[in-house]
Amino acid sequence: MPDFYAVIGNPIHHSKSPIIHKLFAQETQQDMQYEAILASLDGFEAAVKAFQQRGGKGMNVTLPFKLEAYALSTRLTDRANAAQAVNTLKFNGNNDILGDNTDGTALVHDIEVNQHVAIAGKSILLMGAGGAARGAILPLLKLKPRILAIANRTKEKAQVLQRQFSAHGNVLSGHYQDFSGESFDIIINATSASLHDELPSLPGGIFSKESLAYDMMYGEELTPFLRFAQQQGASKLVDGIGMLVEQAAESFFLWRGIRPETKKVIEILKNNGH
Ligand code: NDP
Repeated sequence: MPDFYAVIGNPIHHSKSPIIHKLFAQETQQDMQYEAILASLDGFEAAVKAFQQRGGKGMNVTLPFKLEAYALSTRLTDRANAAQAVNTLKFNGNNDILGDNTDGTALVHDIEVNQHVAIAGKSILLMGAGGAARGAILPLLKLKPRILAIANRTKEKAQVLQRQFSAHGNVLSGHYQDFSGESFDIIINATSASLHDELPSLPGGIFSKESLAYDMMYGEELTPFLRFAQQQGASKLVDGIGMLVEQAAESFFLWRGIRPETKKVIEILKNNGH
């Protein structure tokens, strides 16, 4: 019988994870199945336990359950601990749940390997202070950027992150307008504003022609953030589809001990309009 895995979220019908993991399993010749599970908003833990009892080996966790997955884990990887959010669960029997967070590693992999942009020595503006931003900070700092500025609508949340991570590098924090007049090499949108077709109140002048504008959100059209970056003259515009595939590859590695090739899978998703 094949090992089985799932992605759990609410909503879940839009999830690309089943197709991504199916392609990974084919490529690496792993005997496994992967399904999508819709949990009710108050039913996350019950759905995870039911899946575990059916013999499930691991799960990807998506919105809005990453904090609940963090709380449910009996053990955490260092990167999940730093992110305080979990997007991957690995089950070893019924009482051992390992929680991991593969999002930040996936982001830096997508920037450095797929986009060929080195992070060392660069100035980075990280927009947002939620789970996705928090998970990105340590993986970014490990690659020694010159500056990591964290900007958030609610400034205090960015300040908390600055205090938490300043021992690992040169971290600044503030509201978006606090960075007016400074241009950055890499600007990463880790807010959920694009989900609502909104744009955080970015000042002009933060993009140069060489800047990489990266939106963690993905879709068929340019997001408001990427459209703004384009208008401001940024030439490299990247959405989060590569990050999505890379986080899946990291989860796959945690479960199966083999990291699939991601390039072809990213191409397939792009050619299908995501
Ligand atoms: P959270 O809900 O934890 O964080 C939301 C953040 O967005 C907060 O910083 C919030 O600011 C900010 N925000 C929301 N709306 C606005 C707005 N209109 N203007 C300015 N700021 C706003 O979400 P996550 O961190 O979990 O996810 C963020 C995004 O990253 C989502 O779009 C998600 O889809 C994407 N993502 C993509 C992944 C991928 O693989 N490509 C993986 C993980 C996430 P405030 O604190 O002021 O409320």
